Amino acid sequence: MIEETADVLIAGGAVVGSSVAAHLAALGYRGRIVVVEPDPTFARAATALSASGIRRQFSNPLNVAISAYGLAQIRARGLAFHENGYLHLAASAAGEAELRRRHATQAAGGAEVALLDPAALRTRFPSLATADLRLGALGLSGEGWFDNMGLLAAYRAEARAGGVATVRDAVAGLALRGGRVVGATLAGGGRIACGVFVDAAGGRGADLAAMAGLALPVERRKRTVFAFAAAAPPRESLPLTIDPSGVWFRPEGARFIAGGAPDPDPEVAPDDFEPRHEEWETLVWPALAARVPAFEALKLTGVWAGHYDMNTLDANAVVGPHPEVANFHFANGFSGHGLQQAPAIGRGLAELIATGAYRTLDLSPLGYARIAAGRPFTEAAVI
Ligand SMILES: Cc1cc2nc3c(=O)[nH]c(=O)nc-3n(C[C@H](O)[C@H](O)[C@H](O)COP(=O)(O)OP(=O)(O)OC[C@H]3O[C@@H](n4cnc5c(N)ncnc54)[C@H](O)[C@@H]3O)c2cc1C
Repeated sequence: MIEETADVLIAGGAVVGSSVAAHLAALGYRGRIVVVEPDPTFARAATALSASGIRRQFSNPLNVAISAYGLAQIRARGLAFHENGYLHLAASAAGEAELRRRHATQAAGGAEVALLDPAALRTRFPSLATADLRLGALGLSGEGWFDNMGLLAAYRAEARAGGVATVRDAVAGLALRGGRVVGATLAGGGRIACGVFVDAAGGRGADLAAMAGLALPVERRKRTVFAFAAAAPPRESLPLTIDPSGVWFRPEGARFIAGGAPDPDPEVAPDDFEPRHEEWETLVWPALAARVPAFEALKLTGVWAGHYDMNTLDANAVVGPHPEVANFHFANGFSGHGLQQAPAIGRGLAELIATGAYRTLDLSPLGYARIAAGRPFTEAAVI
């Protein structure tokens, strides 16, 4: 039975938990750091099941800045990066106005995004049907998809080299005393006393918060991803394209992957990873075939499902300490964009824990105070 003590106990060792651990180690934090992670294969972690994209095209300026550090980390580690851009398409006046608004925010944050009218879209991407479109927003640099497991492996290796310990187990309960988390009980029966607790449990983040009596408006939402091969694929190199319907697609080697957000979009059980096969017919394929005529003839080659940890208040991450249980730190609610945010969130939380303040980028707008007040800090560009 494990009986030990951690100055910092991190529940969840996928990309967010490992980034916090690696950044603490990089800061020279001297306390003992323990990561509790039940599954060393990460088979069901969103980190492994994600579409692995990074973009600067957010509506919220803080998220534009957060991705900048993600990009820097991908480049610094020389991870495989397909810098094809993201292409957001608008077909309505409201959609166009929204893209223009976001564009101003993104430009102010240093993101290189071009607004393309239908004629420019046709020239650049001849395989797209553009008759119904009003505008496209294309990231010219710093956007695309990268090696998700490479980033995770890098953070794990850096944490290990920095003396971080990993325990293969799951946090099953939290003990509180005097308004602080004093320790965790593990599913395997052990116990770890702790000075600081970090909730990096992805889709199970709200379950862990509940163990400390804390309410977190984060739900597991199933996202099904379809892989396909086109009989006559488009000749141009396509970006990750977001259709006005919300359906997205991108190249994956010689093939493609695609998905969409179902409606209704209920919370699912933690162990429900069964793909929603019917979404191919009802949601994804009709949008693909309408947007890319070459996708009328294609063959499905694979399918998987993962969980978004969706923040139902404002589709944005919840980061930092709880105002009352002040040594309980959230790193939750990434709402489909947490892979690219893991570097900046890990760096920020590490700074806060090691030095008492955010040093490089102020993440306090993502704090729990807004949740308690029911005051959204919205991210509108959710894919
Ligand atoms: C289909 C899909 C596509 C996506 N596409 C993108 C994208 O293109 N770009 C992007 O940036 N993001 C994307 N995301 C979101 C991104 O993958 C996640 O936001 C990110 O991986 C979250 O990382 P995490 O470490 O918080 O959670 P996870 O990767 O889910 O890891 C949580 C970890 O916690 C562990 N855990 C669970 N319970 C416990 C417990 N009780 N005790 C200890 N450990 C526990 C789990 O085993 C797991 O390893 C996508 C997600 C999905 C599902």
